[in-house]
Amino acid sequence: MSVTFTITNAPEVKTWCECTCVINMGQPIPDCPICKGKGGHIYQEPAPGYSVDLANESARAVLRLIGLGCGDDLWGNIDIDEMPYVRRRILMALNSNVSIEAELKPASHTPGGHAGIRIEHHDNIAEIVHMGARVHNAGLSSERIRRHIHSIDRLIELAQRENQPITFG
Ligand SMILES: [Zn+2]
Repeated sequence: MSVTFTITNAPEVKTWCECTCVINMGQPIPDCPICKGKGGHIYQEPAPGYSVDLANESARAVLRLIGLGCGDDLWGNIDIDEMPYVRRRILMALNSNVSIEAELKPASHTPGGHAGIRIEHHDNIAEIVHMGARVHNAGLSSERIRRHIHSIDRLIELAQRENQPITFG
């Protein structure tokens, strides 16, 4: 899960994506359920630099540090007149090791099979199945948090130049 911070009315980059029917058959299939014979579709995304994508855990830490932490809600917006305040908070956060340290999370690793076993029967053979997938969590280091905060600061700087609010969610 991740949170995308996007500048409103960002210029969009359009890319033509060829449909799988064209890739497979060499030409559009008239009754293709995906492209309905058009042979593909236009894929739109904000131009590079106009959006920043953070994992939920990172977004939550960054929002708290820059004074926008609002409980568990990971969506909202940064209005234009709010931006100078947020950028001051960003400076303060980057200068405060104490508040960044409060958000650190160690990397963790959960080996597979941690959730017990169950027995499955296949014909006359009983098989012991270990449950629980292997989980690796990169954690949050001070460097990563600082890098995320810098990327949000650059996004706000661009939003101020474009005079557009930022939405996130
Ligand atoms: Zn198609």
